[in-house]
Amino acid sequence: MFKKILVANRGEIALRIQRACRELGIKAVMVYSEADKEAKYVKLAEEAVCIGPAASSLSYLNMPAIISAAEVTDAEAIHPGYGFLSENADFAERVEKSGFQFIGPTPESIRIMGDKVSAKQAMIRAGVPCVPGSEGELPDDPVQIRRIAKSVGYPVIIKAAGGGGGRGMRVVHTEAALVNAVQMTKAEAGAAFGNPAVYMEKFLQNPRHIEIQILADKFKNAVYLGERDCSMQRRHQKVIEEAPAPGIPRKLIEKVGERCVAACKKIGYRGAGTFEFLFENGEFYFIEMNTRVQVEHPVTEWVTGIDIVKTQIMVAAGEKLPFTQRQIQIRGHAIECRINAEDPFKFTPSPGRVTSWHMPGGPGVRVDSHVYNNYFVPPNYDSMIGKLIVHGDTREQALARMQTALNEIVIEGINTNVPLHRELMVDAKFMQGGTNIHYLEHWLSQHKR
Ligand code: ADP
Repeated sequence: MFKKILVANRGEIALRIQRACRELGIKAVMVYSEADKEAKYVKLAEEAVCIGPAASSLSYLNMPAIISAAEVTDAEAIHPGYGFLSENADFAERVEKSGFQFIGPTPESIRIMGDKVSAKQAMIRAGVPCVPGSEGELPDDPVQIRRIAKSVGYPVIIKAAGGGGGRGMRVVHTEAALVNAVQMTKAEAGAAFGNPAVYMEKFLQNPRHIEIQILADKFKNAVYLGERDCSMQRRHQKVIEEAPAPGIPRKLIEKVGERCVAACKKIGYRGAGTFEFLFENGEFYFIEMNTRVQVEHPVTEWVTGIDIVKTQIMVAAGEKLPFTQRQIQIRGHAIECRINAEDPFKFTPSPGRVTSWHMPGGPGVRVDSHVYNNYFVPPNYDSMIGKLIVHGDTREQALARMQTALNEIVIEGINTNVPLHRELMVDAKFMQGGTNIHYLEHWLSQHKR
């Protein structure tokens, strides 16, 4: 096992990884920007290295600074967390070339999955169900583009191969608008992602977002840890996640889970990963794979009893997965609310000094946050400042616990989206379960204030 790991991230996930290291008896080196020197995990750290100024491009995205921090502290491995450099194949490659273990998949796996066209082709080969669409990149010839759209069937969505974060997509409803839309998306994709390649998919009208968590080791063992429902989204950003997904038969989950495991074995995937699907009319359609730990991993940890972050570290160190598929059981129900420093209904960011911070507790309540009383939320980064996760024997119990927990929260000095969560947790449709990816946006448009 490693003796020392460098944590190349910030915020709640940096603290989460630090905690996992402590449990494993590993020393964690924390890195921080000038804006984060007051962070809890920096104060708690045995070793911490400042890697640059507040701007991410000069600190958390600064590859040489991070690698030299690992060198001067004698770390053996680097955990990239999520966001920042976590899905950057060049970074993974530089980490390994510098003699450190990257806690994640190989650079090749990251590269294949980072290009949505090659990811989809790999999934089709591995037998994972995909959204019907063009076979690979769209050609330039308008006649061929129209022919492909006709066979896919309108409406279609044009997506950038290099896209991410909900950008680089355009929905097309008619043939008249098609060719122009393709050209515009290509131009935007070239400018935004340095790769003008686009592809076409059937546009699904009312899907749910369901994803499968997997874990794999270096010996081609892989398992799936069930699914998460992340349909409650605003601007393609997840707001609430839960496991299991309400109302989807176990048999269907098992079928798609087994396909994901087969795909992992086929591509030699290692570490944690998530296969994201749209789910409509009882069918799963792969959209992309995330080759890292995700924000919403705690809901899966709670229903399976498996520590995903610790397992990531163990398999990166060359250990075998300590469990088989048959040992993985789903128990009860877990829900996560992302707590953001923002206006709860207008969504303007609300950084600043937290003058009062009281978190809930009691049975089945987990809070992952690096915030404390008098902490200053810097304006330079993502607005997420923590996550509230609850577990219950049933979804009803989990909902009741989340309602109670949200009502116990006191955060003063900044605005947060806790009031929004309080309303959503008593919304009749959400309580019923199974809302689609448009539900939250629709709800917000009806509850304007
Ligand atoms: P990104 O990497 O930018 O997050 P995704 O491929 O994961 O891109 O898609 C983001 C979101 O866009 C999905 O969660 C869904 O809301 C919507 N979307 C993507 N593809 C389709 C599709 N074929 N039909 C309907 N909606 C889609």
